[in-house]
Amino acid sequence: MDSIKSEKFSNCVKEMHKFAETYVQQTNTFFSIDPSVTSVIIAGLATYKNQYGVPLCPCRNYHNEEAEIELNYWICPCVSMRERKECHCKLFLQSDDSSASESQKINLDTIYKNL
Ligand code: SF4
Repeated sequence: MDSIKSEKFSNCVKEMHKFAETYVQQTNTFFSIDPSVTSVIIAGLATYKNQYGVPLCPCRNYHNEEAEIELNYWICPCVSMRERKECHCKLFLQSDDSSASESQKINLDTIYKNL
C-alpha cells in the first residue's frame, strides 16, 4: 500500500498517535487490552487525516466523506465521545469496560506493525 510508505502518511500516524495518547489522559480513559485494536483505529484516523486533512472516525461507512466533514459530528473526538465519553471504536475506553487495559500508552512501533 503506497500510502504506508509516504512520508505524509507517516507523519499523520505520528500525529494521531500523539493525539490518542494525549486525549486518553485528558479524558481519563484507557486503551484496549488488545493493542492491535488501538493500532488499527489510530491507523484509520491517520488514513483520513492524510486523505482529507481531518481524522474522521474510521469505524463508520460514509456515503460522502466531504459532507460528513462539514457536519463535524464524526471528526475524532466525535460528539458522543466529547459529550458522553462513548467511543464506539473502542479506542478510548472507560475503566469499567471489560476491554479496557490499564494503559494510556501505545508504542509507535506497535502501530506500524499493525498497518
Ligand atoms: S468513536 Fe469517536 S472518539 Fe472513538 S475513534 Fe471514532 S471518532 Fe474517535
